[in-house]
Amino acid sequence: MKRTTDYGWERFSALPLADKAECFARPDGMPFHTIFAQQFGRGALDRLCDAATQIRAIAKTRAGMEFLQGQLFHKRAMIYFTQPSSRTFLSFLSACQILGLRTGEVRDASVSSEFKGESREDSIRTFSSYFDLIVMRTREKGLAEKMAWALSRSRRPVPIINAGSGKDQHPTQALLDVYTLRRSFERRGGLRGLTVVYVGDLARGRTVRSLSQLLANYEGIRHVFVAPAQLAIGEDVLASLRAAGQECVVSDDMAKWLPEADAVYMTRIQDEWDESRGESARIDTSRFKIGLDQMRLMKPGAILMHPLPRRDEIAPEVDSDPRAMYWRQVRNGMWMRAALIASTFDRLSRIDKYYRDNL
Ligand code: ASP
Repeated sequence: MKRTTDYGWERFSALPLADKAECFARPDGMPFHTIFAQQFGRGALDRLCDAATQIRAIAKTRAGMEFLQGQLFHKRAMIYFTQPSSRTFLSFLSACQILGLRTGEVRDASVSSEFKGESREDSIRTFSSYFDLIVMRTREKGLAEKMAWALSRSRRPVPIINAGSGKDQHPTQALLDVYTLRRSFERRGGLRGLTVVYVGDLARGRTVRSLSQLLANYEGIRHVFVAPAQLAIGEDVLASLRAAGQECVVSDDMAKWLPEADAVYMTRIQDEWDESRGESARIDTSRFKIGLDQMRLMKPGAILMHPLPRRDEIAPEVDSDPRAMYWRQVRNGMWMRAALIASTFDRLSRIDKYYRDNL
């Protein structure tokens, strides 16, 4: 069993993801730190999806809520979000409340001692002394991983959940996306063999990077990456999916792929990453938007997803189509994040027992 304490940061950061995942795991194999999507195998995904459904059902009654809130009443979580966010922030806040965790928050690094020249690593380490869980969203790609490495080596290891790291990873969004897919296809044979069409800014969007990796746990998925050439999916994603035996297609023709899709995963243009002013605005994205005409091209049983926030890539008229799944994704996210936090603190068996005894 590999342990974080065996490695300095330089060596640790160069390890293959499978080794890092081993270092970040709890003894039961579930993640202690949740940093990247590749930490989740099929067993972990099934456990978390089941737990999300159980928590959702238990939370329907007052007695159930009292049980859930008793689970982590003695724990505190810090929500450290130095990158703009309201929905993911509130989703985590609600997930913590469901399990009784008290929360503190940092939304703006400029009001903390980082402003006085303290390193971000030192600030987070200081905060970790007051809390039992850190949920982190940052613009920097590897900070959550570095903090997870550092805190694992400290006397009081505090778990980190990555709530979005730069352009790289958004593992909890991917978990809720898989949960949404599972609920949508559970009476139709599950996820096996689905064609998933990802559309939009695939070069800079972290949600598709994480989701496609999680879906590599399911057999026979066909991943179709549709984007303008300037925003095409990274070669690293294609290489790792292909190495896992998954079929990948790269295209710039959305209309061609809509009739084939079981799930269409739309994303917005991530122009906050533009290197020069107006760079994204010069890209022709007109063929990568969904309105009622495009919905007519999709199968009756297909679903339309979006991590939100949306801009104009899905027209508001589409919202009332029963295939539009994005508002449900939001709700699913809260239950899935509660399941992940419960798992981080080893509460899944208790929740399972309560569910079996009472529902
Ligand atoms: N909310 C998602 C994220 O944080 C998607 C987006 O911002 O476009 O990556």
